[in-house]
Formats: sequence, C-alpha cells, structure tokens
Amino acid sequence: MLQPITVPNKHLADYASIVGRDLAEEIRERAERLKGKRILHVSATAFGGGVSEILYTLVPLMIDVGLEAEWHVIYGREEFFNATKVMHNALQGNPQDLNDEQWDVWRRYNEINAKDLSSGWDVVIVHDPQPAALASLVGEKSRRWVWRCHIDLSTPNPATLERLLPYIEPYPATVFHMPQYVPAGMDGRANIVPPAIDPLAPKNMAFSPEDAVYICEQFGIDVDRPLLCQVSRFDPWKDPLGVIDAYRIVKSEMPDVQLALVGSMATDDPEGWDYFNATVAHADGDPDIHILNNLNNVGAIEVNAFQSHCDVVIQKSTREGFGLTVTEAIWKGRPLIGGAVGGIPLQVSDGETGFLVSSVSECAQRSLEILGDPGLGKRLGRAGKEAVRKRFLMPRLLRDWLSLFERLEA
Ligand code: UDP
Repeated sequence: MLQPITVPNKHLADYASIVGRDLAEEIRERAERLKGKRILHVSATAFGGGVSEILYTLVPLMIDVGLEAEWHVIYGREEFFNATKVMHNALQGNPQDLNDEQWDVWRRYNEINAKDLSSGWDVVIVHDPQPAALASLVGEKSRRWVWRCHIDLSTPNPATLERLLPYIEPYPATVFHMPQYVPAGMDGRANIVPPAIDPLAPKNMAFSPEDAVYICEQFGIDVDRPLLCQVSRFDPWKDPLGVIDAYRIVKSEMPDVQLALVGSMATDDPEGWDYFNATVAHADGDPDIHILNNLNNVGAIEVNAFQSHCDVVIQKSTREGFGLTVTEAIWKGRPLIGGAVGGIPLQVSDGETGFLVSSVSECAQRSLEILGDPGLGKRLGRAGKEAVRKRFLMPRLLRDWLSLFERLEA
C-alpha cells in the first residue's frame, strides 16, 4: 500500500530573516493564487538520501502557504528495490541494464501502486524512476503530472534510458537539477530547478562549536586533532574507498589527521551493506578512521555536528545528481573539497568557495593545503555560505515549484 508520510510543522515566516523578506513575500503572493490546490508527492522511500530530505521540509512548507500537499511512499519489496537499484545505476552510466524479468518486476510494482493511488489531485509529482510508470498507468487520477528527476542522466546507459522514456512521455512537465541532465527530445517539457536544503532543520540549524565538539567526542573523535569528513550513503559513486586513499596520503604528511565516514543506510538501497563492508575492509582497522551509520545512532543532529566541527568536508563523488551533503557542509561555513562531477561544480566555484578535484592525489593535496592554512579554510567557508544563502535554501525551491504550478495552470 502507498504509505502517507507524516511531516513536521514548518512555517515560511521563520525563514524570512534568513532568505530575505522579498522572497517570502513573492512566495505568499504566488501561493495565494494556488490556494487549496491538491498536490501529491510520490517517492520510493521516506528515509535516507536526498529526496526524502527535501520532502520533509518542502511538503510542510507547501501546506503552510495554503496548498493541500501530501507525500506518499510507494509499496515495494526487495525484488523491486533490487531492480530499481540496477535501473538507478544504469541511468547514471553503469553498463549493466535490467534484464527482462527486472523490467517486469518494476512494471508490476508500479501497477500495484497505481491501483492504490487515490484520485482527485491537481498535481502529482513523481520523484525519480522508481514510481515513474504511474502517469502512464493511471493518468486520470490527477489533472497534471510532473516527473521530478533527481539523478544525473547526462551519460546514461542508452538501452535503459530508451526503455524508460516511453513511461516519461505522458508527463506534461519534467524537472531536472541541471540542463545537462535533460534527455534529448524533452526540451519543451523540461524545467531546470536545483534542489535546496532546510537551514532550520536539525541537520542544518546553527550549532555552537562547543555543542558540535561535545557530540563528535561521543563517537571517539579526538577533537583536538584535525578531522576530515565525508557524509554519504555507502555507494560506489560516492567513492568512500577513494576518500580513505586520500586520507592515507594526508596521514603520511600529517600523522595526527583523522577521518570520519558517516553514511546512513537507506531502505531502498540493498547494495548499501555490501559497500559498507567493503569500506570497513578498506579501512583495515585504522583506529583513526571512524565509519559510522544510523545504526550507531548517527541521525540528523550528529551529521550536523560532524559537518560543523570537521576541518575539511570531502564529497569525493564520481557521479552526483546534486549533492545535498555539499550544500549542507558549505552552509556550515566549512571548506568543501568535492569531485568535479554532476551538481558539485554548480555549488562550488573552484578556489573561491571550495575546491574541485578529479583524483585521489588532488583530493589529498587540497586537504593538506587547507589543514596547513586555517585562514584559507575560513575564507572558502565564508564565501560558500553566502552563495548557498542566495541559491540553495528551501524557500527558493518552494518559489520555483509554485511558479511551475502556475505555469501548469496557465
Ligand atoms: N545523510 C544523512 N546521514 C547519513 C548520510 C547521508 O542524513 O549518514 C543525508 C545527507 O545529509 C543528505 C542526504 O542524506 O541530506 C543525501 O543527499 P545527497 O544529495 O547528498 O545524495 P543522495 O544520497 O541523494 O545520492
């Protein structure tokens, strides 16, 4: 059964002092014209990963400004998530396509969820490929449909994309993070809207340095020694093994350094545990490498503490749809070293708000530069924070959705 997700209370008014009154006012005006519209978000999971992170704030803010917004999570069992994981990887460029049986499984679960979907929506927003067949199966259940793609489709496995596209065809509008992700032939329908973070969520709210230290210490971090940190799912595209290799180079010059790899295990990611185990094996018992996940009780507050306290935040992805972890870290005023892929260059301007790298050795070199010059880290962090304030906070994303709804109505 599709599962309705209960979201917290959020109030746009609380954000006005952070993003400015003009934006808050514009949102109120647009929302007034859309009052009472029934909006449904459909996604694959309520926990772990960027989509759920966004919806936990976006949905309550839509409600606060007068929309009747809901968020439902689709039903799926292991066989479905195994298939959608292969699909996700293939769409981001992995040579392995789904076999016929996996495509069948994907379609079958979409049919089950389509039957269960309620009717009478003004707009249904379908997030990512997992539930993407819904519009083709039960188009009549909503006046409008939007497919919101959160992944990097710039170099997909062509066979997988070709088989998915007919299911995207019925959507009158699609939304991508960046123009490069829009598949050919979708130009007229595609909208470009990068995601955003919630500056008032426990994950991003301002922490005093003492609070951050207090929390990091509980996980065995020596807070008087330098700390590198990557917060990410345990996934080959996030390259935690490469982060460990970079850390080892740094360690050879700066023996004091520590590394924290923080990664929650998402319910729709069956590969996560294998890769987690591979990461632990690669760390080879080094007591200065701290590998933590939500089963160690690392939740939003702890992620916040690690991002706030560490000396360098790394996001050494080799593919990255957008990289909310990058936005989160920069918002905390930390210097960010990120892979020059996907949405990371959209957020980091090299040398001004962080560093972009393309190899383990570059990542290590930049880490050493920042660790050796605390003033540099502060400068990058300060400039980055202002860039995030202007472009990547949740009210801007809310405004962009409202303006898309208005265009759909017109
Ligand atoms: N995240 C978390 N705990 C973790 C690892 C990740 O809360 O241990 C969150 C992270 O803070 C971010 C989201 O999960 O908000 C990941 O989004 P991102 O766009 O970086 O990557 P995705 O997982 O969607 O590929």
